[in-house]
This record gives sequence, structure tokens and C-alpha cells, in this order.
Amino acid sequence: MEENLDSFEKIKVPALDEILGKKFPVLDDGFIRVVDYMGSDESIVQAARVSYGKGTKKVTEDRGLIRYLMRHHHTTPFEMCEIKLHVRVPMDTWRQWIRHRTANVNEYSTRYSIAIDASQKTNLSEWRIQAKNNKQGSEGFFPDEIGSKLSEREKELQDFARGIYQERLSLGVAREQARKDLPLSTYTEAYWKIDLQNLLHFLALRMESHAQYEIRSYANIIGNEIVNRWCPVAWEAFQDYRMNALSFSLQELEILKEIYKGNKSEVNKLADSYGWLKIIDKRFTKNIERAEFEEKLERLGIEKPWE
Ligand SMILES: Cc1cc2nc3c(=O)[nH]c(=O)nc-3n(C[C@H](O)[C@H](O)[C@H](O)COP(=O)(O)OP(=O)(O)OC[C@H]3O[C@@H](n4cnc5c(N)ncnc54)[C@H](O)[C@@H]3O)c2cc1C
Repeated sequence: MEENLDSFEKIKVPALDEILGKKFPVLDDGFIRVVDYMGSDESIVQAARVSYGKGTKKVTEDRGLIRYLMRHHHTTPFEMCEIKLHVRVPMDTWRQWIRHRTANVNEYSTRYSIAIDASQKTNLSEWRIQAKNNKQGSEGFFPDEIGSKLSEREKELQDFARGIYQERLSLGVAREQARKDLPLSTYTEAYWKIDLQNLLHFLALRMESHAQYEIRSYANIIGNEIVNRWCPVAWEAFQDYRMNALSFSLQELEILKEIYKGNKSEVNKLADSYGWLKIIDKRFTKNIERAEFEEKLERLGIEKPWE
């Protein structure tokens, strides 16, 4: 990366320029494309050097500086980069997406225009079964015989709702009222502009395994196909220190210390004192904090120390 503190030349990212306007398909009829952007990895460094002084260059390489900023949550330099996307998303996914308040949004208006004539359709092999342990999640898929019936009924419902909508429009009902019974599977489109700091926050929440499959599909494209080209060094740092990192609470560290010492009775005593060996949240069949710690132990290749 070039030292750019005193340069006012517009920063360009050739790898992102190559895909400007290109539609990345998502789900059956959705897409994401980059409309415009401002900044790059260089802008993050440039902004940081304003606060740390030019002298920093001598001791810290650009990559090291970006990684330092990411590790220590020095967030404002990442806000110097902005991106504008054009997205086409089913309304139920958009409802989750729009909860991220730190973006600038302009959405297709179904008061002004006729609603987009496309609804998200579920392939017969993609109907998910309600998870037993997690009320917000799913586990496994229905067999194709059931899936095929569900997809057939989905089509009937979508066609029926669209038919009534068209009937209302042809009678002259106002578009703002005619739309009220359209299903949440109806696609909407928006321009969505956000800075890199808040985009990474969005991606941390929406690429994560607990996010719903549909929004995760969009987030994965934004992260892997777009941010990866746009700010590769920041993206790498984000993977290393946010997405794939593990953090431990004080309690977890205490238990880890005892596991390391091989002190099983102390491990169990501590876990019991934290209430981890009882079920305290009736929504789950096991203690949720303990379950999350067990996932971390699995990543570390450590067997869970209790029955
Ligand atoms: C897996 C999952 C499940 C969810 N389940 C539910 C649910 O059941 N019900 C539900 O209602 N929502 C749910 N949400 C939405 C969630 O609670 C957040 O509203 C959403 O993820 C947006 O997060 P955010 O506010 O951090 O992001 P943004 O709105 O993008 O904000 C980014 C950051 O800016 C700051 N910020 C923004 N606005 C303010 C403000 N007004 N005051 C102070 N700080 C602010 C905060 O630090 C915030 O983290 C869920 C989200 C996920 C990922």
C-alpha cells in the first residue's frame, strides 16, 4: 500500500471495479450488486495515521496497523470506507436486514409502483424442520415427498395472493392498500449504503451460524465476494479477530485452568457453583451457557469434562 496521507487522488480498488454492477444471485430470484464505493484498505491506514501521526509508518506496516486497529476495536478508521449495494431480497429477510439501523436505505415503493411480481420459492428439498433445542432454529430437512407437497401448497398460496392483488389493482384499488395481503415471500429491492465498520458488524451477526439461512446467504456473498475484494486486509483481520476468534468469560477461564491442571473435581465444583449443571432456562434442554462453552471446548479439541 502507498503512503497516501497527503494525496487527494480518488482511491480505486481494481478488484472491486471489475465487479461493479455485476449481479451476484442469491436464493431463487434475489441478488446483490455493488453500485458504488468509497475508500479501501488504504483509507483505513490514512485515517489512522492522522490520529497516530506519520511517524507510525516507520514502526508499523500497513497490514500490521489494520490488524492492530481490528484487534483493539479502534473502529473509526473503518468508517472511512463506504459501499452502496443494490439488493433484491424477500420481504421476510428484509425485515431482519432493516433492523441494522446504521445504513442509509432507499427501498422500492409499493405505494408508487406495482409490487415486484416475484415471490421467494422453496425447493422441495429445502423445507427445514423446527429445532427441538433452539426455538429460533431449524435442524434437518423434510423428506422429498413432504417437501414436494409443501412446495406445491406454497405456489398455490403465492398465486392466490398475487391474483387477489391484481384483481384489486384492476378494480382501481390504491396500490398502497391493494398490497396489504401480499405474502412476506414477495421480493423487494433497495439501495443500501453503509460504512465498513457497521458492515462488518452486520456480517458478524448475519454470517454467524445462528442467523437464519436466508439472510446468511446474502451476508456470505457480501463478505466473501465483495468485502474480500474491496478491503482484503481488513477482511482478513476481521476473519482472524472476529469471525473465527474465540473469547472466554472469567468463569470459562477459571474452568479451563482447572482442566489444564487435570483437576476434574474442581472443574465440576466450579461448574456447579456457576449453575451450569442445572437447567435454568426452560426453553432449552440443557444449560445454554454450558452448551456454548462445550462448543468452544470442541473447537479446542478438549473433551467436555462432565457427563
Ligand atoms: C441471530 C439473531 C436473532 C435475533 N432475534 C431477534 C428477535 O427475536 N427479536 C428482535 O426484535 N430482534 C432480533 N434480532 C435483531 C437484533 O436484536 C438487532 O436488532 C439487530 O441484529 C441489529 O443489531 P444492532 O442494533 O447491533 O445493529 P445496528 O442497528 O446496525 O447498530 C450497530 C451498532 O450501532 C449502535 N447503535 C445503533 N443504534 C443505536 C441506538 N439507538 N442506541 C445506541 N446504540 C446504537 C450499537 O452499538 C449497535 O450495535 C436478532 C438478531 C440476530 C443476529
